[in-house]
Order: sequence, then C-alpha cells, then structure tokens
Amino acid sequence: MLDLAWIREHEEEVRETARRKRMAFRVEELLEADRRRRALVAQVEERRRARNLRSEGVARCMREGRAEEAEALREAARREGAELAALEPLLAEAEAALRQRLLEVPNVVSPDTPLGASEADNVELERRGAPPEFGFQPLDHVELAERHGLADFARGAKTAGTRSCYLTGMGALLHRAVQQLAVDRLLEAGFELLEVPVMLRSGAFVQTGFFPAGEDQVYALEGEDLRLAGTSEVPLVAYHAGEVLELERPIRLAAASACFRSEAGSAGRDTRGLYRVHQFAKVEQVVICRADLAEAEALLQEITGHAASLLDALELPYRIMAVCAGDMSAKTYKQYDIETWMPGRGAYGETHSSSLLLDYQARRAGIRYRTEDGSLKHAYTLNNTAVASPRILIPLLENHQQEDGSIAIPAALRPYMGGRARLEPPA
Ligand code: AMP
Repeated sequence: MLDLAWIREHEEEVRETARRKRMAFRVEELLEADRRRRALVAQVEERRRARNLRSEGVARCMREGRAEEAEALREAARREGAELAALEPLLAEAEAALRQRLLEVPNVVSPDTPLGASEADNVELERRGAPPEFGFQPLDHVELAERHGLADFARGAKTAGTRSCYLTGMGALLHRAVQQLAVDRLLEAGFELLEVPVMLRSGAFVQTGFFPAGEDQVYALEGEDLRLAGTSEVPLVAYHAGEVLELERPIRLAAASACFRSEAGSAGRDTRGLYRVHQFAKVEQVVICRADLAEAEALLQEITGHAASLLDALELPYRIMAVCAGDMSAKTYKQYDIETWMPGRGAYGETHSSSLLLDYQARRAGIRYRTEDGSLKHAYTLNNTAVASPRILIPLLENHQQEDGSIAIPAALRPYMGGRARLEPPA
C-alpha cells in the first residue's frame, strides 16, 4: 500500500508504474473513490455539526422558556439525525471501496529496474561458475531420480494428483540436507529462526501484499478463514503486524516451512519432474529495517549474497538477474532473481528471488518504529529465498552426475548426508 496523500500528489507516477508493471490498475478510479469519500466525510461532519448546534439551541430555548422554538429546533435536529443515518452507510461503503483500491495500488519501481514486459527482458548482472561439459550423455533429474530411487512420481500422482511426488531414500535426505545447510548458514549470519504457522488468516495475506492480487494462487481451507501460505514470507512479516519495533539494527528472521501453491495459470508449464510442484519446502530470509534506502539496498545485496554463497557451497553454476518491471509483482520495488544452471533444461532456471518492498508491506501490516525525533514511521521489508527444495535438487543432481552413474555430493552437504561423498551408481 502507498500513502494516499502521496498518491494524490503523484498520480502520473502511479499510472506509469502500473503501465510498467503491466497491471490493469487505474489510478483515476482510486482518486475518484477518494473524492467520493472526502465529499461524504464533509457532508457527515456538516450534518453532525448542525445537529449539535440545534441540540444546544433546544437546551437554551428550554432554559429560557421558549418551548415553541425548542420544538421547532428539535424537529430540525430529528431531520438532520435521519439524514445523518442515511449518509453513514454510504460513507462506510465509500471507505471500503477506497480501501479496496488502495490495496490494489502497485508499489513504485526502483530507478535501476530494467523496463520490460516479461522474464525474457530480465537483465543478467553476473554469472558465476561454468556449466559442466559432460564427456558422456547426461541424464535429466527425472531419469537420475528414478535410477537412484530419489523420487516417486507415480505414487505422488496416485495419492495427491498432478504436480506432486514423494521424495524417497537419499532424495528425502538431500531435501532435508540442503534446508539444514541453509538454516545453519543463516544462523551464522545472525538470523533468528522461527518455526512458523503456514495455515494463516486471510488478513495476514492482505497485510503482506499477497491479497487481493494473488488470491488465486493460494489454497483455502473449507469452512475456515484459513489459507495455506505459499511462502513463509507471509507469517514472518505478519509476525510483527501492528507493532512498534526497536530498529536500531535490522531484524533478520528466517523460517524453513512447507509452501503450497495452486499454480493457477501455469497449466501445461513445467509439468515434468520437480520444477513446479504444488507443495515444496523453502528456507526464507525476511529483513525488517528502518526506512533508509541506502541501508535497505545494502541489505538487499546481503540477502542476495546469502543465496549466492549457498550456491557456491553447493558448487553450482548460476547467474544473478535484475528483474524487469513487467515480471515483478505489484508489491515489489526492486528484485533480483538467481537462476541456476539446469543441464536437463539446457538453460538457467529460477531458484531464488530477492525483493525489496520499501514500506509497502509495513504500511498494510502497521509495522512501525520510532525515529530519533520521536515520530512513528513505517519500516522497510525485504525477503529472499535461502533455498527451495525440491527445485534445487534439479541442478544438484544434474550438474553433479558422473560418468560412472554416481552423483557427487558437494563437500558442504556431506555432514548432512552421513558423510557421503557421492550417491553410488545403481547396481
Ligand atoms: P517466490 O517466492 O515465488 O519468489 O519463489 C521462490 C522460490 O521458490 C523459487 O525461486 C523456486 O525455487 C521456488 N518455487 C516457487 N514456486 C515453486 C513451485 N511451484 N514448485 C517448486 N518450487 C517453487
């Protein structure tokens, strides 16, 4: 959400942001809703003032024995009371309409965000590591998983339908290993680990900017005001909703959680294997800091760096992308994606997403801090994936496969894999 007073002064900028983000949002409709609400507020206040004056007049006339005049004033006050009663629901409606429009306003975009319509227009900033050159015919992760008994797609489909699978044997262990490695590294970097609820009230999604825009991506529990979070960014940011925080130093929070996504709109895309599933696990980083752009930009580099150094530790080739305005969500101010090389796709695939939101979420969630001059200000929020699995297993298996059919385990993961240096070739 943006500040309404700011929007009134920056109508053209809001219009331009919506255009850049390829959103149908119409700022003039918001400003019309604002004008309607303000007009109704003025009318209600006017009627209240008039009614109060008449009531005072009634009391005065009664004191002074002017009964007839008092009755006339009483009648006028009654009429005004009825008008007021008719206006109040209109005002409540106008307020709700304005609030709805405000929830739809896209966040502004950083000046260094590339222009562009879609993922194809994202700009590569940096590339680290080189894709492996195999002296043999490499397999893709589905073939590798089947050969090594790492995943069971058939039983996943049997029990849970499409985009679902079981991880089995060393596959299940690898899935936990990458998450624990990510958690341990975040703890070392000073993050506080929370075990979070992932069944959340819809208010938490509104507060964090996932509703109303992304409502179709989220599963609802029948008969309850509870939804399944698609990312622990929702419970981590909403954790501090409505609070005044001490932000001498940024608050760094992490969680490892199950994530659920309907993937509405992805029909037919990435249907093979582990890339796009309905349930996955993610270790997430969330940072809450003061409304200081330089500090927030440095933190964006920091959390992006955590993801990059984890990929270094996993010995995977990757590239860092500046996400263009058209590929960003409404809530984002600036975004980097990290794409990791996936030999089976013959391409880099997105494995991490790092965002700065300025005070867009904090304004919705009411997360504030006290500045030096004693005033209250909305905080800035950031988030990034530390690791998401099973998607990360795709590059892990595919890049580290060996000619003899084994799969090498990077040194950083071995302590979490019972000391194993490789997954043995199938017998
Ligand atoms: P996001 O929260 O949408 O920025 O996604 C963060 C990361 O979660 C992505 O970069 C992927 O690694 C992973 N991810 C997102 N959606 C899915 C999905 N449907 N299946 C598997 N992994 C996913």
